[in-house]
Amino acid sequence: MNKVVIIGCGNVGMAYAYAMVVRNIGVTELVLVDINRAKAEGEALDLNHAVSYADKGVRIYAGNYADCRDADIIVLTAGKNQEIGETRIDLLHKNYEVFKSIITEINGVGFGGIYIVATNPVDIMSLVTYKLSGLAHNRIIGSGTSLDTARLRYLVGEAIGVSPNNIHGYVLGEHGDSEVIPWDKVTVGLNPIDKLLSLAQKSQITADVRNSAYDIISKKGNTAYGIGVGLVRLTRAILRNENAIFCISCYDPKENMYYSMPAIIDRDGVREILPLSLNSADKKMLEQSITTLKDARDTLLERAK
Ligand code: NAD
Repeated sequence: MNKVVIIGCGNVGMAYAYAMVVRNIGVTELVLVDINRAKAEGEALDLNHAVSYADKGVRIYAGNYADCRDADIIVLTAGKNQEIGETRIDLLHKNYEVFKSIITEINGVGFGGIYIVATNPVDIMSLVTYKLSGLAHNRIIGSGTSLDTARLRYLVGEAIGVSPNNIHGYVLGEHGDSEVIPWDKVTVGLNPIDKLLSLAQKSQITADVRNSAYDIISKKGNTAYGIGVGLVRLTRAILRNENAIFCISCYDPKENMYYSMPAIIDRDGVREILPLSLNSADKKMLEQSITTLKDARDTLLERAK
């Protein structure tokens, strides 16, 4: 049995739930929890009608925090979304309050599985989940720049006419404005992408990766599909003990901060963070990105005093 609980049945939570039904990764029980109980119930009813068309059945129902006790994975997608012009870090204080109430409830029933965090600002919300849950840090994974990495691969693939699945490269640091693309590490086949794209193309792609959430939010109000499918892929890697590499937000004890680095994911969460060998400019940008996150973390700590 594989049981997943989604806390927060909004755009992201339900894009994930829908992708879960369609992708059929072997989850047998999917529980929907939301502060708006009617919303969770309506979504469960609606989604159950999709199950008839899926290859294998998954039991889907609206639940409550007691359902977290024996869950394998809890996916946190509750909280406030960005409005037009808002940065992810602008959401920090409101979503901290949301997480405090949710994680207190989950601690109350006892949960020893793995948290996947998607709520923004995702790096800091992952740190908050780690600190409030009392679980080992390898059991808390932030979706981090997995979405930005998917966007990078898509845009590079489009530019050179190759499937994004064959573009290798990662976006590091904050899932947000200070994120870093180490371009000299992006490859297609055995070829560094550096030789295939002009400087102008690379800076356009860098800007597009960084700004795509703003662009989508200005047009449709939220982003959901990329993160929904990405979270399913990450869930599969955990449940199947895949030892697959993802660029996700994980804990750096030296910095006491979560930020995105390529890491190996297994049944216990983050098995190992891969060492980075960055050029000096990228190294400096990553340090600045970590500082941005630590500054936001410190503002939160200051307010929580
Ligand atoms: P949404 O407003 O559609 O959904 C949020 C849901 O959370 C709502 O259904 C709301 O009722 C619920 N909720 C609020 N407080 C709650 C509580 N205390 N307990 C239980 N449920 C509660 O928002 P969305 O568009 O789904 O976005 C959710 C979060 O995901 C936002 O923070 C957004 O910025 C983030 N997001 C992250 C990524 C990523 O790559 N990590 C991508 C897109 C969006």
